Amino acid sequence: MSDQSNFPRPTLQAGEELHGFKVLRVETLPGIRVTAYEIEHQKTGAKIIHLHSFDRENLYAIGFRTPPSDSTGVPHILEHSVLAGSGKYPLKDVFKELMRSTLQTFINAFTYPDKTIYPVASQIKTDFFNLARVYTDLVLHPRMLKETFLQEGHHLEFSVPDDLGSDLIVSGIVYNEMKGAYSSADSLIYKVLQENLYPDSIYAFDSGGDPDVIPSLTYEQFREFHRAFYSPTNARFFLYGDIDTSEHLAFLSEMLSGFERTNIDSSIKSQNRLTEPRTIQSTYPIGKDEPIEHKTITNIAWMISDNTDYETSLVLEIISALLVGSSASPLRKALIDSGLGEDLSPVSGLEADLKQLMFCVGLRNTQSSDAQKIEQLIFDTLQNIVADGFENELIEGMLHQVEFHGKEIVRGSYPFGISLMGNVFQTWLYDGDPLIGLDFPKAIENIRRRWTDDPQIFQKMTKQWFLDNPHRILTIMEPDADFNEKKEKKYQEKMAKLKSSFSASELARINAQAKELKKFQEEQDSPEAAATIPKLRIEDIPRSIETIPIQNSLIGEVPALEHDLFTNGIAYVDLAFDLARVPEELQPYLPLMGKIISGMGAAGLTYEEIAKRIALTMGGFGYDLVAGFSADAQTTLQKMVFSFKALYRNLPDAINILRDILFDGDLNNEARMRDLISERKNNLQSAIVPSGHIFAKMAAGAAITLPAYRDEQWNGRTQLKFVQNTANNFSTAKQDLREKLESLRKILFTKENLVINLTAETDGLKIAKDNLSRILDKLPVAATAKTEAKPSLPSVFAGICIPTQVSYVAYVLEAPAYTDPSCAMLMISAKELSNSYLYKHIRVQGGAYGGMSSFDPSLGLFSFLSYRDPHIEETLQIFKDAQDFYSKNEISFADMEKAIISTIGMIDKPSSPAGRGYTSLMRDFAGITDSMRRKFRDDILSATPQKLKDTLVDYFSQAAKSAAVAVYSSPEKLNEANTRLKEKLILENIFEA
Ligand SMILES: [Zn+2]
Repeated sequence: MSDQSNFPRPTLQAGEELHGFKVLRVETLPGIRVTAYEIEHQKTGAKIIHLHSFDRENLYAIGFRTPPSDSTGVPHILEHSVLAGSGKYPLKDVFKELMRSTLQTFINAFTYPDKTIYPVASQIKTDFFNLARVYTDLVLHPRMLKETFLQEGHHLEFSVPDDLGSDLIVSGIVYNEMKGAYSSADSLIYKVLQENLYPDSIYAFDSGGDPDVIPSLTYEQFREFHRAFYSPTNARFFLYGDIDTSEHLAFLSEMLSGFERTNIDSSIKSQNRLTEPRTIQSTYPIGKDEPIEHKTITNIAWMISDNTDYETSLVLEIISALLVGSSASPLRKALIDSGLGEDLSPVSGLEADLKQLMFCVGLRNTQSSDAQKIEQLIFDTLQNIVADGFENELIEGMLHQVEFHGKEIVRGSYPFGISLMGNVFQTWLYDGDPLIGLDFPKAIENIRRRWTDDPQIFQKMTKQWFLDNPHRILTIMEPDADFNEKKEKKYQEKMAKLKSSFSASELARINAQAKELKKFQEEQDSPEAAATIPKLRIEDIPRSIETIPIQNSLIGEVPALEHDLFTNGIAYVDLAFDLARVPEELQPYLPLMGKIISGMGAAGLTYEEIAKRIALTMGGFGYDLVAGFSADAQTTLQKMVFSFKALYRNLPDAINILRDILFDGDLNNEARMRDLISERKNNLQSAIVPSGHIFAKMAAGAAITLPAYRDEQWNGRTQLKFVQNTANNFSTAKQDLREKLESLRKILFTKENLVINLTAETDGLKIAKDNLSRILDKLPVAATAKTEAKPSLPSVFAGICIPTQVSYVAYVLEAPAYTDPSCAMLMISAKELSNSYLYKHIRVQGGAYGGMSSFDPSLGLFSFLSYRDPHIEETLQIFKDAQDFYSKNEISFADMEKAIISTIGMIDKPSSPAGRGYTSLMRDFAGITDSMRRKFRDDILSATPQKLKDTLVDYFSQAAKSAAVAVYSSPEKLNEANTRLKEKLILENIFEA
C-alpha cells in the first residue's frame, strides 16, 4: 500500500511546449498526493489544470465563465440543451445515452451564479476518453435545435391539447424545475440574499432562471449566449487522476483543433461596497393548514473579502467555523439559547462560490416582531467576541478540522476529484492562483504563524469584516399560506391576457408547434445516430471483483474486524451494537438516543466542552441504524453503529471521549435535550420535500419486510410523527423519555452486543486496538437473553398530505434474497427500466423530474418511484405496465449490453477507505462472501435477453400480489387521484396542525 502514499513525479517542466500547449507551472503537492500542472493552449488560450495522482478514478471537466445579464436562465437552459446532441452525435438525448451505456462513475453538469461546469469520471481509461470525447464535442459543437430549446427552456401549449378554447400555458423542463425551486424556502432565501447583497453585479440576476422572466428568452438569444461564452478561449479544463499529462494534451489538442482565439470579456465585475446596512422583507410559501406563528426566518448576511485574496478568505473561513461551526461556537450558542427561534437558519455559514464571499447567520422558526432583537443579539455577541477573543481551545479545534479534512480521502456521491475541482475554481475563475487553496499543510502553517505573530488576529478580523462592516443586510422571510395561490392567479391573468392578444391563426400555430414538439419527443433515434456513440466492449469490463482486506481478531473479549487500507493517517472506528435484545416499544427511541448521546454532555463535562473536545480530536462522530436481510434472507440483522474518525496521534484522546459519551453520558440537561429533539424534528420535516420519493418508498416498504419496516420506523414519517409528538409534549414526556433512554442504554451497551470494525494502516490499527482494549472493561455483560421483536406489518395504500405542488409516488414489491438465482436479472432490469422505460414515460412524456426503479435485496424490496411528478394515477399505471415491458417486448442485444455495462458501473462505483471498511462490516453481518459476489458478477456478465425475460415473467407474476403503494402529495391532488383510482388511497396528515 505504500506506493499510494506517494504521488507521481513531474513528467513535464515549466516552459516546456507539447502538442500546441505551453506548460506554465509545475508544483508538487505532497499534502494531497498530486503533482499539479498549469498549462495553456497556445492558439486559443484555453486554460488547463491537471492534478496528476495515483487515483485511477480520472475526472475530466470543462468549465466556462457564464455571467448572466438577466434572469431568463439562459446559462441553465444552455446547460440542459448542449447535452442533448451535437452534429457528430445527432441523438435526441446524448447525456442519457452516456449514462446508460458507459462505466461512468460520475456524469453531470452544474450551473452556478457565474460559471457552468461539465464533469465526467471513470476508472477505465478507454471509457474515460470516450466520455471526455463526446462531452467536449457536445459542449463545443451542440446542435441546439429549436425543439431542444422549446423542450428544455419554455414553450406555449394548450392545457387540453388541440382544444383552442382551453387555457394557454407555459411549459418546459427548466421552467418547471425553477417553478419548483421558487416554492422552496431555502432557494428563496438565497435569491433574496444574492439580489440584495450584490445589487449592482451579475449576482443580482438568477442564472437558474426566474419563472416570470424565463418566457422572455428568445431562441436567438439562447444561441448567441453559446456563441459568446462557449469558446476554448473562455474555457477552463480541470483534469484529475492517474493518466499522464502528455496523454491528456494529445487528446485536448485534437479536441481544440480548428478553433481560433476569440475576443471575449467574461470577467466578473466586483460589487462596490455598500456604506449603509439595509433591511429586506420577503415571503415564502407554507401549507394552508400549518400554523404561521413562529415560522419567520431571520438572517443577517455580510459581503466580505475577495475570493482571490486567499490569506484573508482562509482566516474568514476559520472565523465562520468559530462563530457557528460547532455546538460550542459562541454565536450559534447565543442564538439557540436565546429562545428567539428554534434552530440555526439553513443558510448559516460561509458561501465561497462567489467573487466576493458572503457570510450569513440567522434563526428559523422565529417571530417576525423579534427580528430587531435577533439582530441586536448577533451584534452584542460579536461585540463580546471582539472584546474577549475566541477561546484558544476552540481555535485549535478549528485548525485541527482544517488539517483533518485536508488529509481525508472522501468519496461520497462525488468522486474525490470533484472536491479538488471545487477548490481550484474558487480562485481560478476570478483569475487568482488556482493552486493556492490545495496546499492544506502550508495553509495551516501560515495561519498558525499569523496567529503567533498576532494572538488577536481572529477578533481583529471579526471586528473589521463583521462588526464594522456596513455592507450587510437583515432579511426577514415571513410565511405566506397564499403564496402559491397569489402567484398562480397572477400567472393566469397574464396568460389570459396573452391569449386574447393572439389571433385565431396564431393560436392554431401555437397548437401545431406544441404537437410537433410532442411528435419530435416520441420519435426514436435512428440506428445510425445511436451508432455514433463510442461503445465499450464487454471485454473491456474487468471480470474480477474488488476485494477488501479483512482480518478477524479479538479486542479483550470483543470480536473485531480489521481492514488494513491506505487511509492517509486516519483511523476509522465503528462500534456496532446488536439490536436483537431491544423490545418493540423501545425501537422508535433509537434515533433519538443516537442524536442525544452524541450531542449532550458527559462525564461531568457540559455539551460545549464535549463539542470542543470532539473538534480537537476527531474528524467526526455519528451514529447509524441499519436493518437488512442476510444473504439468503433466512435471518435479519439490526444494528446501531457508532462511528468516529481520528488522526493516529489523536486516537488515545478520541477513545477516551468515546468512552465518556457512550458509558457516562449525561441525560439531565433538559434545555439541551429539548433543542436536540427540535433540531431532529426540523431536519426530518425539511428532508421530506427534497427527497419525497425516498419517504414514499419507506412508507410503502414497511408493509412488506421487517428490515423495511424498521427503516420507516427509524427514518420515515412514523419517526417524524413520533419526534413531533415528543417535541410538542416535551414537558410531560421528558421523564418517560429519560427512563426509556436509560433502559435502552442498559440493554444495548453490553459486551455480547458489540462488534468492533477498524479501518486504517497497520500503525493506526495497532494504536486503535491498544486504546480500545483499555475502555472495554467498563462494558457490562448482558443481563437479558435475545428476544427479537417481531411486529406485524400493516398493509399500506397511503396518500400522505404535504404542502407541495408536485407528487412523489412509490409502488413497492417484495424481492428475493441476494443468493437467489434471479437476483442478477432483477438488478439489471431495475437499472434498465430506470434508464429507458420509466425515463421515457415518466419524465419525457409525463413531465416529472424523475422516474426510476430500484432493487434492494438487503431490504427485500423492488421499488418503482417518481420524483416531482405532476401525475399520480397515470404514474401508478405506468409502474404496473413496466412490469410487463420485458416479458412483452424483446430486448435487443445492443440494449442488453448497455444494461450490463451500466449495472456493472453501478456496482463498481469506487468508495472511500471509510466506505470500504464499513461495506466490509455490513457484508460480514449479512454473510455475503467474495465467492457469492463473484457469482453475482458472472451472472450479470452472462445475462441474455431470454434469461432476463424468463426471470422477470416469473418474478413479477408472483410479486405483484405483495404490492404496497404510498404517495406523498397535496390533499387536493390526492383527492383528485382518488376519484379515478379503483382502490382508494387512505389519506393521512403528517405535519402537526
Ligand atoms: Zn436543471
